[in-house]
Amino acid sequence: MTQYANATTQKENGTVLGGKLIREGGLVAFPTETVYGLGANGLDGEAVRRIFEAKGRPGDNPLILHVAKKNYVKRLWAHVPESARVLMDTFWPGPLTIVFNKSSLVPDEVTAGLPTVAIRMPDHKTALALIREAGVPIAAPSANTSGRPSPTSAQHVREDMDGKIDLIIDGGPCRYGLESTVLTLAGEPTILRPGAVTREMLEAAWGAIRLAPSILAPMKAGETAASPGMKYRHYAPECEVLVARGDPRAASGKICRAYDRRVLSGENAVIFATTQTQPFYRDRRCVIIGDRAEPATLCANLFARLREYSDAADVVFAEALPEEGMGLAYMNRLLRAAGFRTID
Ligand code: AMP
Ligand code: MG
Repeated sequence: MTQYANATTQKENGTVLGGKLIREGGLVAFPTETVYGLGANGLDGEAVRRIFEAKGRPGDNPLILHVAKKNYVKRLWAHVPESARVLMDTFWPGPLTIVFNKSSLVPDEVTAGLPTVAIRMPDHKTALALIREAGVPIAAPSANTSGRPSPTSAQHVREDMDGKIDLIIDGGPCRYGLESTVLTLAGEPTILRPGAVTREMLEAAWGAIRLAPSILAPMKAGETAASPGMKYRHYAPECEVLVARGDPRAASGKICRAYDRRVLSGENAVIFATTQTQPFYRDRRCVIIGDRAEPATLCANLFARLREYSDAADVVFAEALPEEGMGLAYMNRLLRAAGFRTID
């Protein structure tokens, strides 16, 4: 049975019980500022294996270790490079995951056999309290069934994980709504997955940072993934998702024409509109997912809306954003949800 605790209303907010369950080898879903995580004792390979089972996650896709103190990385990495020190001081706690060579303390189950380990310190009171209570780093991927949109509320976690895990701690909706930026410092500093800590912010703090080619393009046959997670179908709802590129006028024009064709042929379509473009869609079925001038607002709503229309629509139309700042993270998730299908 899955127990349930509400961190926003209950005095005993679930972190004490959660810490105990984690120490005993159990699985606990918890809120962070990015998305909900599905946590287990990161030093216990057996416990970590249960995460892969509950999610149906491919065994070669490594997990992120979550720590409550910056200093703890000394035990988990072979050593701490200068670049990591600077970036941890600038962005931790926060939505930045750093990948570096692992120490012998980290079980192979966490890293899927890779010689590197990904670590992050979340900027969320409940997450930090849970890690402290557990007294160990918590290995946690997003708390969704593999392939589905990541959970940004406790209700989303329930939809996917009820009956499969020991506890869900409800901390309300997640602030960012997209997973952390993943940056590797093993070799040339490279962003493997974009997030709310943007390339521009990282470059201002450290210097040149590369982008992995798989961020905005599907992997080619035979190509090896810098980050195994990039290989898989991701963030995908049941319904079809189509992306329209171009400036707001051009993109909404393309969407209107494609929408009309689909609706005429009897399909149930919905448009993810923005504050700026909503008037262009007139009386077509729209939901505003944010403000194009503030990509963070679109990021915060994307996964929740994809889940909402997963079964409630046959096709979702969405506008592309410029691939800069948080727009890069948005496009990375949206294109994957769409299986890279665009209307042009
Ligand atoms: P999730 O926690 O579900 O958001 O997934 C974690 C992401 O971090 C996945 O895309 C993983 O492939 C990536 N990741 C975790 N550890 C490593 C690592 N050692 N090297 C490269 N990517 C990693
Ligand atoms: Mg995930």
